[in-house]
Amino acid sequence: MAQEDIFKKVVSHCKEYGFVFPSSDIYDGLGAVYDYGQNGVELKNNIKQYWWQYMVLLHENIVGLDSAIFMHPTVWKASGHVDAFNDPLIDNRDSKKRYRADVLIEEQIAKYDEKIEKEVNKARKRFGDAFDEQKYRETSPRVQEEAAKRDTLHKRYQEVMNAPGGIDLEGMKQIILDEGIVCPISGTKNWTDVRQFNLMFKTEMGAAAEGASTIYLRPETAQGIFVNYLNVQKTGRMKIPFGIAQIGKAFRNEIVARQFIFRMREFEQMEMQFFVKPGTELQWFDEWRNRRMAWHQALGFGSENYRFHDHDKLAHYANAATDVEFKMPFGFKEVEGIHSRTNFDLSQHAKYSGKKIEYFDPDENISYTPYVIETSIGVDRMFLSVICHSYDEEQLPDGQTRTVLHLPAALAPVKLAVFPLTKKDGLPEKAREIIDELKFHFNCKYEEKDQIGKRYRRQDAIGTPFCVTVDNQTLEDNTVTLRFRDTMEQQRVNISELRGIIEDKVSITSLLKNLK
Ligand code: ATP
Repeated sequence: MAQEDIFKKVVSHCKEYGFVFPSSDIYDGLGAVYDYGQNGVELKNNIKQYWWQYMVLLHENIVGLDSAIFMHPTVWKASGHVDAFNDPLIDNRDSKKRYRADVLIEEQIAKYDEKIEKEVNKARKRFGDAFDEQKYRETSPRVQEEAAKRDTLHKRYQEVMNAPGGIDLEGMKQIILDEGIVCPISGTKNWTDVRQFNLMFKTEMGAAAEGASTIYLRPETAQGIFVNYLNVQKTGRMKIPFGIAQIGKAFRNEIVARQFIFRMREFEQMEMQFFVKPGTELQWFDEWRNRRMAWHQALGFGSENYRFHDHDKLAHYANAATDVEFKMPFGFKEVEGIHSRTNFDLSQHAKYSGKKIEYFDPDENISYTPYVIETSIGVDRMFLSVICHSYDEEQLPDGQTRTVLHLPAALAPVKLAVFPLTKKDGLPEKAREIIDELKFHFNCKYEEKDQIGKRYRRQDAIGTPFCVTVDNQTLEDNTVTLRFRDTMEQQRVNISELRGIIEDKVSITSLLKNLK
């Protein structure tokens, strides 16, 4: 199935099975805002748990925080967001569609990369085992030609993004014209100039008569951590290196909101700021790069689906930055950013607040402003990567197709579904008895409607890893049929064995153990 078709199916599956609904659905939705339904909220909570437990439980020197969404307006002046949290936008006059100019150029670079990969793949097929990939890349005239175009474009892009007075907007437009980039809707090159657009949402606090002040909905959770650095360090008696982790909502007035929950205007972040001694930050950057990749890969989706993308343009605060990208149906895309933020944020807050924000190192008897390594991951993007990877339409030997979510059991919304074979003879009561015992340990669901086959399909569609059927034999010997989602294998087991078989496999700990 084509990748775009898979993506469309995932989106409608999410709605049909109570994972994700458009916000205010009965009013036809609100652009790039979504609600999580009965199954979505469970999956989302499990993802958050997996992150929180890894960060806060497994790291003795990382503690949590839950800071408010509203913050003093000066925070955003100090952080640079009021002046510089902009995206360069460009409109196509014919289609009236708006684009991010940097994204149009990055997509063009990716097109050259794709052409190169296509050539290499063709040659690989042609030469078979004798294929020397490196030599081919170095000598093939077609690869060389595309690589030269790519490198020239890449260099120009870096120059405009890192221009001394801020992004060179005219230079960006010129690249778009020179590369002949067209609007995918109108197919024309009738572009406006490139303009900067601030992504923060504004609102007012207090009644206007009392002198209301403009405040912002936070565009990242990180600043809540920075302004609490002293509070946490002092009250927690934290010694450097240490980290503060937080999960919470963030808001960005995105210019182009596409691709479902990939780019939302209200979304959720899981951020951790790790405070280190100046001069050690690049070692810590590498360390967190590795740890975060290991966390992603412990889900078992295959290392070929992940890659790092080092940034061409470093944010004004960073001295190193990389993204963890995941292979979505629409290509490799950023799921998490890892940034070495220097001491920029703490120094800025010290300057604007007039407070001394430093760390006194008792061993070396010196004070300094700590440097920071940030790991920042979007819950919703993580959710999307998990659900896209897990979605499958399987052809069964009897010719039927089953739609199944091969979710990691620890992330699945429901862990065990219990079915009475019929609605009589005391089978429903027996099924309820099983649930009443197991519901304290993991999420169980009772289902008695329709034939067993249909009930299995409904559970497959939401990724339930285990189903149990209670039949008349159960009443005699306390055994049930246990059915496994991925293999569809069925086993007869005693009710007393169920907890032992299931609990370990569905716990977040089972994922964390992969990280050892
Ligand atoms: P992008 O380049 O895609 O706009 P970003 O580099 O601005 O993302 P960061 O500021 O590094 O993103 O934010 C950290 C993480 O927050 C991202 O890796 C992503 O998972 C998530 N995120 C950022 N913006 C959005 C959004 N609009 N919708 C959903 N998740 C988002």
